[in-house]
Amino acid sequence: MQGFHGLSLSEAAAFHGHKGPWLVLGYRVGLRAVEVLKPETEHDLNCLVKTPLKTPYTCAIDGVQASARCTLGKLNIKLERSDVGEIKYIFTNNKTREKIGFKLKPEIKRRIKEILTMKGLEGAGEWVAAQPFHVLFEEKP
Ligand SMILES: [Zn+2]
Repeated sequence: MQGFHGLSLSEAAAFHGHKGPWLVLGYRVGLRAVEVLKPETEHDLNCLVKTPLKTPYTCAIDGVQASARCTLGKLNIKLERSDVGEIKYIFTNNKTREKIGFKLKPEIKRRIKEILTMKGLEGAGEWVAAQPFHVLFEEKP
């Protein structure tokens, strides 16, 4: 396959099994990394995910795999346990050496929990999809 092709959000949801808020979060952060770092192939990006190693937080990893094409199979995604509850995604373009990091804003975790209670899994997924990116993440090179 020529060039860079990620999955659509519905394809990502089909792969993961549901379109929950954490899947959508991971999908969006991967998409943003692609936008900024402009990979040309599925091998160009590397991702380091710092997260509590439990669901639903780890659902985001499937989103990243779908949109940024950093996958466990290609060994270009790595997971690191975050015990303090901080959630970070750090992407590197192997060719250009450019790097970008995203930190989930702490209030978003709380907000997602509230919306899950009110609107359920898909409703919370839609909420995450509808937020401006900067509401969800802090971004730094
Ligand atoms: Zn999930």
